[in-house]
Amino acid sequence: MSKKTPHSGSINPNLLGAISKPLKLNAQEYINGILKGDKVILSRAITLVESKRREDSELAQQIIEGCLPHSGKSLRIGFTGIPGVGKSSWIESFGKHLITVENKKLAVLAVDPSSGVSHGSILGDKTRMEELTQDKNAFIRPSPSSGSLGGVARKTRETIILCEAAGYDTIFIETVGVGQSETAVKEMVDIFVLLLIAGAGDELQGIKRGIMEMADLVLINKSDGDNIKRARNAMLDIKRALHLFPLDERNWTVPVITTSALEKTGLTETFEVLEKYKRHMVTKGLFDKLRKDQNAHWLKNTIEEAVLSRFYNDPSIATEYPDQLEKVLNGRVSPYTAAQNLLKKKD
Ligand code: GDP
Repeated sequence: MSKKTPHSGSINPNLLGAISKPLKLNAQEYINGILKGDKVILSRAITLVESKRREDSELAQQIIEGCLPHSGKSLRIGFTGIPGVGKSSWIESFGKHLITVENKKLAVLAVDPSSGVSHGSILGDKTRMEELTQDKNAFIRPSPSSGSLGGVARKTRETIILCEAAGYDTIFIETVGVGQSETAVKEMVDIFVLLLIAGAGDELQGIKRGIMEMADLVLINKSDGDNIKRARNAMLDIKRALHLFPLDERNWTVPVITTSALEKTGLTETFEVLEKYKRHMVTKGLFDKLRKDQNAHWLKNTIEEAVLSRFYNDPSIATEYPDQLEKVLNGRVSPYTAAQNLLKKKD
């Protein structure tokens, strides 16, 4: 990967054309632009998806409806792992491999509900994935930067549809390796990849039963130089640990591969596993089920997000909530009673 400098590659040349585009497009113009693979129009449509303004949301929904029949043909891949494990380096190396060797078109999205708070989205740092950012066959989009996890997840699902309609046949969704974002990403992808490194400690890497159980493929990254032996040992340990989990209906034994983003090893092997997984799922008739499950989660997630946001944005709740919270914190009412008081107000 090229050396990181603070400002290099900070503007995607493909986006510069945005300045000369007309400001307002109707839904059909957006849809046509997306179907032609116009990155500027795709980016603008995603901005509408992420917008809080009602008219933007309405337009976004029309665009999504128009794109839906053209979506669904990609492989949706989730990536998780603690910061420092080499996720962005891996995505860059593997992404370049997919584009140059396998002729794929790649969109990289992220789910990072903390990015609105920290203003430091994991993909917001524009010096990351510098080569991919410049590649005409790659489209990189940082995490939607505001709202609840549910809100961020919904927007990412909708963005997947738009990217697929724009011709991206491989979608990466990166998550920060903390909290609940793994579950949200797991629910929207076809295959979930856990990146680990040798010797960082199980606790630190979030190798709780839950995360390990979610993985469909485990990569032990930084398997290079002095680290190769340790990475191999880690691979054997993880394989043993995975054997303790019973196989589910898919009957899929989770592969563990040693990789190096730096030396670009394990790339072909990883691609072969992804292909094998897809074939396996299609043959067993489970791929369709996966997609149906994803849509079911999308529906449920959208309702939950809408109900919650309607509740918290209700003017009477906005005024009453701080009072009730204070009473709870002072021990004057129980959280249950305070919740009932607020819920009654909304009824
Ligand atoms: P992220 O926080 O998980 O996205 O990790 P980064 O991709 O930013 O990488 C964190 C650090 O690990 C950087 O200094 C990278 O250069 C280094 N790194 C990433 N992948 C590899 C690898 O395969 N081998 C080695 N030796 N270092 C790597």
